[in-house]
Amino acid sequence: MEYKKNDIVTITIEDIGNDGEGIGKIDGYTLFVKDAVIGDVVKARITKCKKNYGYARVEKVETPSSFRVEPKCMYYQKCGGCQIQAMSYERQLNYKQDKIRNNLLRIGSFTEEQMDAVMEPIVGMEEPWHYRNKAQFPVGYDREGNLVTGFYAGRTHDIIANTDCALGAPENKLILEAVLSYMRKNQVTAYREQNGEGLVRHVLIRTGFRSGEIMVCLVVNGKKLPAEERLVEKLRGINIAGFGESGQNKRITSISLSVNMDKTNVIMGKEIRVLWGSRCIQDTLCGLTFSISPLSFYQVNPRQTEKLYGLALEYADLTGKETVWDLYCGIGTISLCMAKKARQVYGVEVVPQAIEDAVENARINQISNVEFYEGKAEDVLPAFYERAGREEEVKSNLGESEDDGAGDKLHPDVIVVDPPRKGCDEKCLETMLRMRPERIVYVSCDSATLARDLKVLCEGGYELRKVRGVDQFGGTVHVEVAVLLCRADT
Ligand code: SAH
Repeated sequence: MEYKKNDIVTITIEDIGNDGEGIGKIDGYTLFVKDAVIGDVVKARITKCKKNYGYARVEKVETPSSFRVEPKCMYYQKCGGCQIQAMSYERQLNYKQDKIRNNLLRIGSFTEEQMDAVMEPIVGMEEPWHYRNKAQFPVGYDREGNLVTGFYAGRTHDIIANTDCALGAPENKLILEAVLSYMRKNQVTAYREQNGEGLVRHVLIRTGFRSGEIMVCLVVNGKKLPAEERLVEKLRGINIAGFGESGQNKRITSISLSVNMDKTNVIMGKEIRVLWGSRCIQDTLCGLTFSISPLSFYQVNPRQTEKLYGLALEYADLTGKETVWDLYCGIGTISLCMAKKARQVYGVEVVPQAIEDAVENARINQISNVEFYEGKAEDVLPAFYERAGREEEVKSNLGESEDDGAGDKLHPDVIVVDPPRKGCDEKCLETMLRMRPERIVYVSCDSATLARDLKVLCEGGYELRKVRGVDQFGGTVHVEVAVLLCRADT
């Protein structure tokens, strides 16, 4: 039978797709059904037909799956942030475990036997709500022209006015309402993507879950805002309930502007101007203190991050003698955790502000056996390798000892990588292979690019020894993975 757009069909959902959608078949024809949960029987409306498969959305759940739960957020179906909130948390974890495994099988070409031998059960969250310490809220207008802030609807730039996200910190709502109230009272406009006019584009809020320190940064299409002092006054006047885990009150300690006058989807502008308080907030993670500036990356779920870094440390298996490279090091969180257990650590990161934070963080924690390099991993590492190789040659020609006390940078014991979703650049992987570390610890937020890169590393002489997912992003399809590779000849 031929199907066409707007047909209504009854379908049993038998699988889950990469974006969390339900998958089922009618007469052998595959349908991807948005917002359907595995195990549901639904009435679905077909929205798009291709030759061998089509897309549909749920009209009515006829028989709910035993994995179906009441979503916590009323906007969940519209908002692009969560994809699988209607699935029980336990089933979400199974889905993520399978997703990692299947990507390693399909893209990484590992065998079922290998996966059975190396894969450990995923580490879940104790409380899968209000876990995010950071959010960037777009500011704009709704269809009626009212000033609003909230989240983008899935795959669009329409803003859904919701200041009370179930994944974020509860105080975000008060802060966003204060910003909107300041904007209304002082006739401050929101940015309009269509014509590039208007001022306020986004509000970034980041909370130190331990310290209670809160950063508010307005991204502005201009160098300044009207009546900035009134914004500061308004924000400082908020009465925030609750405490950081270290026992101090939650409080705003940093208010800044980020200038972004480009017509771009990139949220943050490079120039930061402090309006009140400090430029950075501080937080603690794994017993270390970190200073975090508005432009730096910092893991969004600190409780799970500690578990993730714990695994990375366990896999690195440090005794105090090792030389370690930490590529994609951000503000130096993994580097500094490793430095306490290694002889020498080298960090590489492309964002200059993050490198500044990393250097400051080494100082705050009185850690001196770490050095940071600014630049792309795929540029810094090969350049370093070439140079150090030449130096080593000269030294050995002169009969000098290689050991200058800083460990062997050229042939480190461990290389840790923690790249963004697109994974590692080929040139970076190639250089890692040439450096031949005993162990490679790969921390990934995208198991598909992870699988692609692991294939290259394993073809280059490494063996997959451990794989473990750590869920940092309940309600969404995303998952973090830690992997240990060892040199096959060891
Ligand atoms: N390990 C850190 C950061 C991980 S996020 C942590 O756990 O906090 C990935 C980091 O890689 C970001 O800080 C990003 O700015 C950086 N990055 C992105 N592309 C890069 C590249 N080509 N070379 C080096 N760093 C890069």
